[in-house]
Amino acid sequence: MREFTIETRARTELRDITSLVSDAVTKSGIKDGICVVFVPHTTAGITINERADPDVQKDILAQLARVVPFDAGYSHMEGNSAAHIKSSLVGSSEMLIIENGRLVLGTWQGIYLCEFDGPRLRKVLVKILGGQPEA
Ligand code: ZN
Repeated sequence: MREFTIETRARTELRDITSLVSDAVTKSGIKDGICVVFVPHTTAGITINERADPDVQKDILAQLARVVPFDAGYSHMEGNSAAHIKSSLVGSSEMLIIENGRLVLGTWQGIYLCEFDGPRLRKVLVKILGGQPEA
């Protein structure tokens, strides 16, 4: 397993970690397998979405903030319930296919660390599992 530390810069942010993950796949030497990207935090997430137009990331964060406002009379004393809820909506991990030693991603897809309660230091864990190449 590889562990990366990422310093987020804003309260909410989508950070492109595609090259970090694909480098980990390359270094693993695994040609055929599965890659799991996981964030061990309750106020962050992992998602896959468009990498070409940064406005998509802006829109995702803006609409998540509309659906889950920062202040809405939550019970949780820490005051960051919105971040917890967004984390559950987005999810803590993504699973990707490795084929011919490379991550399989659509042309426009990228992998994102979703910060919902930053800025903070975040860990991203990458587990790469290799199988036998298909005959
Ligand atoms: Zn909390």
